[in-house]
Amino acid sequence: MLIVMKVDATAEQIDAVAQRVRTLGYVAHVMPGLNRTAVGVTGNKGPEGRETLALLPGVDEVIRVTAPYKLVSREVHPEPTVFPVAGTSVGNGFTLIAGPCSVESEKMIVESARFLAARGVKLLRGGAYKPRTSPYSFQGMGTEGLKFLAKARQETGLGIVTEVMDVESVSPIEEVADVLQVGTRNMQNYALLRRLAQARKPVLLKRGMAATLEEWLMAAEYIMSGGNYQVILCERGVRTFADHTRNTLDLSIVPVVKHFSHLPVIVDPSHGTGKSQFVPPMSLAALAAGADGLMVEVHPNPKEALSDGAQSLDFAAFAKLVDALRPVAAALSTPIR
Ligand code: PEP
Ligand code: MN
Repeated sequence: MLIVMKVDATAEQIDAVAQRVRTLGYVAHVMPGLNRTAVGVTGNKGPEGRETLALLPGVDEVIRVTAPYKLVSREVHPEPTVFPVAGTSVGNGFTLIAGPCSVESEKMIVESARFLAARGVKLLRGGAYKPRTSPYSFQGMGTEGLKFLAKARQETGLGIVTEVMDVESVSPIEEVADVLQVGTRNMQNYALLRRLAQARKPVLLKRGMAATLEEWLMAAEYIMSGGNYQVILCERGVRTFADHTRNTLDLSIVPVVKHFSHLPVIVDPSHGTGKSQFVPPMSLAALAAGADGLMVEVHPNPKEALSDGAQSLDFAAFAKLVDALRPVAAALSTPIR
């Protein structure tokens, strides 16, 4: 259910509505909009209480939300969601997130951060905890990696995007990260999603490698229904019969997500293609398709990378990509952030 308040509803009236929702045993999500505030209601099995809520002072109308996901849907929040992250913002331009797949040393992450900051990037990616297919592959530097990320932030001012793999590590990672990344393998780790609903930082939710749009949006609903409304969706490719790329980057989902949801959606062409030479064209295509940003793997020396070297751009290739994105962004009147 969605309670739409009148344009001139007072803060007291909004509070009273939220309180009544709680008295009914439901959860109230107060969502200020451009013109008016709405109160999303979750936890209700049906429309019980609808009539009484509609009669409260300041209420304009009470709408039944037909989508299975509620807080994620455009029905509940017609305007796009925009929020600040580490001195930049997500949802109102084309946000660049770049950096190595894994943090490998202090030197390489600080060097990467310096280069990216000079190219106008505001958000640095880098995994300290890595979900690897093989237990024998590099698993990430863990706590030490987090320290190096903090150092990179201190040196450059870049915001940090890094992956959380389990409930236990959310608290220490939250101390360092500006955005908590949920990888494709954990999209339906509901214990983790519930924990992230309590987090104070935005969550970047990658699409599961075999997830439908509805499963993906439902995963985002887990985070929002627990009170964390700052969710960024990230398309990173899905499994298909095709083997010419590592995954099949489903750019067609970008406009569809934007049709059904107000959440920002970014694209990861690195995992989406698995091959660095295909990253630039798919990045340009993501921008043209209406994505809110990119997450790109960039490494000072991809040939020596401890993970995902084949899909990582070197510094020169990344600089060239940013130069190619600028005129397209300008033609679309989309600021690069
Ligand atoms: C990553 O971003 O390095 C990563 C492991 O991504 P994904 O979860 O999309 O495979
Ligand atoms: Mn990677």
